[in-house]
Amino acid sequence: MAPPLDTLLDMVAARIIAAADELTALDSAIGDADHGLNMKRGFEAVLAERAAILAKPLGEALKTVGMTLVMKVGGASGPLYGTLFMTLGKELPEEPAVADLARALHAAVDALKARGKADFDNKTMLDVLGPVATHLGHGGASLASVRALAAERAQATVPMKAIKGRASFLGDRSIGHMDPGARSSQIMIEAVCDVLEGRA
Ligand code: ADP
Ligand code: MG
Repeated sequence: MAPPLDTLLDMVAARIIAAADELTALDSAIGDADHGLNMKRGFEAVLAERAAILAKPLGEALKTVGMTLVMKVGGASGPLYGTLFMTLGKELPEEPAVADLARALHAAVDALKARGKADFDNKTMLDVLGPVATHLGHGGASLASVRALAAERAQATVPMKAIKGRASFLGDRSIGHMDPGARSSQIMIEAVCDVLEGRA
């Protein structure tokens, strides 16, 4: 049985808010030092609307999360994470199975690519979200393997040169640092895995 949405929402929000300083530190190396603050502001706004969100069916609830992030998160990551959650809301059935999640995440990754005019290996959140969507699509993925893949892909952004976003202004100097958005995506995926595994 799927875990309740309230647990998932609370855990994702709590983990992102707790990681604000770390995400901002990553963004201070290759951006403008606001990713943690942006994400914290966004998920605090989501928590402020928690009751209204949870009163809705899954699809509408996720769309509201997405719209709240678009409205409250400054910076590139707001519209991008907004697109992610809104697309998941549009694509997921009320009682999703893993295959539904894989398909919806694929659709969200495509929407995110279009929105940010970005591709894989550009050193962005796509480098975590894309491989995880593909991995889930193969079927039979264990939670441990999803968690490990997300961590590995976030780490894999370290040697990449940024092609999109603010970090791309640094050119070669973006090499050697983890992408903040890849790390925030990893944190969210880890939070979801922990809830699904009953570890949270
Ligand atoms: P800003 O770059 O406007 O300050 P944030 O710091 O909140 O916004 O978010 C930066 C993150 O957004 C990057 O680490 C990267 O993962 C992601 N990002 C930026 N531009 C793009 C893009 N065009 N496509 C996908 N992700 C992007
Ligand atoms: Mg920034």
